[in-house]
Amino acid sequence: QRLPEGDAAIRATDNDAALARLSAVRKGYLTDPFITPLVPRAHLQQARPPLINIGTYVRSEALDELVDGWLALSQQEGTKCQIVSMGAGSDTRYWRIATGPRRDTLARYIEIDFPEIITKKAMAIRKSRELSAMLGKPEEVSLGNGGTTLHSPVYNLLSGDLRKPPTESLAPLLTAGNTPLLSPSLPTLMIFECVLAYMTPAASGAVLNWFTDYFAAPGGMAPLGCVVYEMFALHGPFGKVMVNNLKARNVTLPGTEPYSTLESLPTRFLQHGWEVAKAVTLKDLRREYVAPTELERISELEMLDEIEELELVLAHYAITWGIKLPPKADELKARW
Ligand code: SAM
Repeated sequence: QRLPEGDAAIRATDNDAALARLSAVRKGYLTDPFITPLVPRAHLQQARPPLINIGTYVRSEALDELVDGWLALSQQEGTKCQIVSMGAGSDTRYWRIATGPRRDTLARYIEIDFPEIITKKAMAIRKSRELSAMLGKPEEVSLGNGGTTLHSPVYNLLSGDLRKPPTESLAPLLTAGNTPLLSPSLPTLMIFECVLAYMTPAASGAVLNWFTDYFAAPGGMAPLGCVVYEMFALHGPFGKVMVNNLKARNVTLPGTEPYSTLESLPTRFLQHGWEVAKAVTLKDLRREYVAPTELERISELEMLDEIEELELVLAHYAITWGIKLPPKADELKARW
């Protein structure tokens, strides 16, 4: 069988992420009733090794906690918020939020990916009563542009190539009748879960810049948050193995080049003038943030022989998050 090349090879990574999630759910690490309808022939898929299941568990729980923190903050402030997930692939986070206690806090949940991935997801949603029921009344849900967009009151799927200039790739965020799909005056969280590695730093910087400017302009002005999950420090021997494995599948990682240390990851945000930026490895998240009762529970799910190998792998993945507050009135006066 010929391996996909170019963008098709990048798109194929969505399948890996979805299969890893499905496996972690089936083995009892995670609870997610929404992944099965998004995976073609889910019943035929094989379980992934324990190391992958544990990594998927740690990343998923950590991101969920950060996203929940953002929703909780908005709830406390009595405002709704927006989430934009870039390179969202077959992610199920919208449905998990929509069936959880913070669902009323969500004004919009927007996902962007390549048109092929969006069309596949939109079709899977249409086929699944469970997934489509959470989008709204049937008359409120519409497919557009030959099935490459889906609009519903909260959940929206958009097609775009995030490597293109944001004036092009993010233009659909601004167009939805008379008001923009993405409000510039609501707190907004960006999610990049395992996607920035496939874009050059210049391209991802341009996307961050676009959002930073959009939420700092008069007429808008709202806090902007971002969570990133990514590989880093790939220059060492173990990182090279990871890079070569992906190269063998025709996937290159231009986005990881400037990030050789954990300390370098927050510069993603700090260079755009963001106030808060932190990064933690999955290794440290597992050791320091996962509750001991949970660690015990997951240790009983499967046999894992090599804790050193697990830690070596988890040390090459990190979650980075940042916050940009809207400019103060006097700063704004000086700028405009
Ligand atoms: N975020 C999902 C998750 O963690 O389950 C999917 C991660 S998957 C490893 C990477 C996703 O990013 C794929 O769906 C891929 O199509 C998307 N992606 C990569 N480069 C992109 C680009 N330039 N524009 C839009 N989407 C892109």
